Amino acid sequence: MEHFSSAIFQALFQTQNPKIILHSTPDFQIVDYNTAFKILFDNTYIYKGQPFFEFCDAFEGFDSNLILKCFSKAKDTEAAVVLPIVKDLKSWQFEVVSVQGEQNNYGYFILSANDISALMIANYREQELGEELSSSHEELNATLEELSTTNLRLQEANTSLEAKVNDRMRQLANTEGSLRSLVMNAHYPLMILRGRDWVIEIANQPLVDLWDKTIEGVTGERLMTILPEIEDQPFPGFLRQVYDSGVGYGQEEQIFFYNSPSGPAEKYVSFYYDPMRDDTGEVCGVIVSADDITSKVLQRKEVENMNNMLAATVEELTASNEELEQSRQELLEKHLQLTETEQRFRQLIRQAPVGICVIRSSDLAIEHVNDSYLELVGKTREELESRTIWAAVPESSEYYGPILNSVIQTTTPFVGKEHELTLIRQGVAENVFIDFVYEPVLIDGIVISIMVVAIDVTEKVNARKAVEEVEKRMRLALEAAEIGTFEFSYLDNSIVTSTRFDAIFGISNPKTRQELLTAFHPEDVQLSTQAHLHARSTGNMFYESRLVHQDGSLHWIRVQAKVFYTGDGKSEKLLGTILDITDFKRLQQQKDDFISIASHELKTPITSLKASLQLLQRQKDKGNFELLSRLIDQAGRSMDKISGLVEDLLNVSRLNTGTIQIKKSHFLFKTLIEDCCQNVQDTGSHEIVLEGDLSLQVFADENRIEQVLNNFITNAMKYAPNSPAITISVKQQGNVFTVSVKDEGPGIPTDQIPHLFDRYFRADESGKQVSGLGLGLYISAEIVERHGGTIGVESEIGKGSTFWFSLPVVIDSEIQL
Ligand code: ADP
Repeated sequence: MEHFSSAIFQALFQTQNPKIILHSTPDFQIVDYNTAFKILFDNTYIYKGQPFFEFCDAFEGFDSNLILKCFSKAKDTEAAVVLPIVKDLKSWQFEVVSVQGEQNNYGYFILSANDISALMIANYREQELGEELSSSHEELNATLEELSTTNLRLQEANTSLEAKVNDRMRQLANTEGSLRSLVMNAHYPLMILRGRDWVIEIANQPLVDLWDKTIEGVTGERLMTILPEIEDQPFPGFLRQVYDSGVGYGQEEQIFFYNSPSGPAEKYVSFYYDPMRDDTGEVCGVIVSADDITSKVLQRKEVENMNNMLAATVEELTASNEELEQSRQELLEKHLQLTETEQRFRQLIRQAPVGICVIRSSDLAIEHVNDSYLELVGKTREELESRTIWAAVPESSEYYGPILNSVIQTTTPFVGKEHELTLIRQGVAENVFIDFVYEPVLIDGIVISIMVVAIDVTEKVNARKAVEEVEKRMRLALEAAEIGTFEFSYLDNSIVTSTRFDAIFGISNPKTRQELLTAFHPEDVQLSTQAHLHARSTGNMFYESRLVHQDGSLHWIRVQAKVFYTGDGKSEKLLGTILDITDFKRLQQQKDDFISIASHELKTPITSLKASLQLLQRQKDKGNFELLSRLIDQAGRSMDKISGLVEDLLNVSRLNTGTIQIKKSHFLFKTLIEDCCQNVQDTGSHEIVLEGDLSLQVFADENRIEQVLNNFITNAMKYAPNSPAITISVKQQGNVFTVSVKDEGPGIPTDQIPHLFDRYFRADESGKQVSGLGLGLYISAEIVERHGGTIGVESEIGKGSTFWFSLPVVIDSEIQL
């Protein structure tokens, strides 16, 4: 069996597939096996000389009879026979080839084991993927099926090629030439590199196909010349390693980059480098066997990619599914919440203390109505439920129908305050006031219903109206009494005042007390401050003080107020009134002045009378009758003056008590004037001029009218001492006659004219002290008024004064005053 040890046979024998050589006699002893076999089983154990079937028994699935049949078939057919697949840790497929011995005797068999695990796994995966993807990836399935078919075909082709090679191997085992032919005919890439330069001695077609070269192009060339591009790839390193170590090296699935005619390309290879030894046993080259697994790897990668894509898709689908599930849960929760809200809403409506009625917008049917609403509109639930709102409450449709329609169309709520309407409650028409809201309930911007919320505020409105009425009356009373009001807050020192208050103070809309203080008379500011301090301690305020308006006029005020307290006893506010008492104060002053003047006026004639009486007393016995007569006259004049003054006082008193008597009679006015003038002319101080129709017949109280005329003339003489003439004129106009007394005196200031006819008033523009009580004009005015006439004066400073009175010419004699 020399050729079994030849280098070429060894090269073919020492592949990565485990191979053993058997000899049929006597009992299929194991003659030899290659390194792959040794590595596969037990490197230390010597199988040589062992019976093959004993070794086989260790494996399950080996059928000794079947193998024997295969051996005899291989021998008979001189072709490779493929054994059934054996599955152990890996999947194996054995094939047996009958080989001739040295004397051409058959009896040797080469048994090769092919590891088809990858193929099986690939097939298995394809099946799995095919199943997984069958529904959604029919195309892939078809592709996989095609690939599977292709693989099977390849496997078959592989198997048949193996068989052919083995057949060739068997035929060519005798000679090296035959072995060379064996290399060339191997169906997988195979070449022999000679020397350290790795000169390509033999390279078969599959190998040059791997490189996209030709056999002629590469044979005899150095490997690195043919493939300089592998310099940086792992192949040269491994070759060197095998060459140096003499130990074979193989690798599964190594990427291989090379320059193809169409440009840079890549392939995947599984390769095995075996050292080739010369006769001396020295390594003289490397036998390279390889397998182009590009399509397998690409196919696997494609499957992996598909797998990854599928996994990603599944992941995405899972995620989407989770999201969908989450959304579903959320929707479920929202639905529950909505149901709960709806229930709460219904309960809320039912229990609300205000009337609520929900009306569907499409047909205005009443959807919900609560008891408060039923009570408000005075209807039963049966009368309202399942009916349209205006069928249920027709009396309100005319006014509220358009409002409701407008709310539906504009989606804008309508708020009504204190609407007065008539409701038919239990058949009785009642006038009520309601506050209400028409609130549109929107879904996606569309009004689906209207919620009517209504409150009966009739009692509140009536109560407020009553309060307003009281307030109005109070205001009118205050206005009539010319009383100003104010509210002062102790919390922020602010003050709120009425219009009358502002008018009295002469300040427009004051906000603080400080503003008011500026209006006080400087001497009275202290009074106001003290009054406030007093109010804080006693709760009450009362004081009178002076104000000075911006025009400089002086005014008297009387302030009355009361403190109001908070719940915890703190002073909260001061509410009060203010009264302008300027007139009252002036009257008071006038009264005081009058008493002083009256005393003084009475004192003078009384003193004079007293003096006259004392002189009379002393002279009564001396017989000086002339002196006595003069003294008596003097005493008489003093008495006349006293009685005149007393008469005036009595007249005032009578006027006050209403007991003054007016006794009317017909008389000629001329007589009255002459009597008056007589008195005046007696003094001779003024010229009396008479004008007009003096022959007038009147019907009046002659004495009282004479008193009036006398007062005018006396005043003219008193207050216009330098007036050369006093003109008395009588004029008739229609049913009225006017008597006037004109002097050319100093005249009266305009501001004093309105007060001339007041009680106790005495104007004093000249500064001269003229005696008088300030009662003459007051009494005159009263007399004229009681005759139904009018009295007045025209006067100008420096131009004299004209006092006048008018009386009706014909006065009904039946009228008794
Ligand atoms: P009396 O007793 O003070 O005169 P009267 O009522 O008669 O009282 O007059 C009131 C005031 O009117 C007088 O004090 C005087 O100042 C003013 N008066 C009246 N008549 C005249 C007049 N003819 N000219 C100027 N002042 C007059």
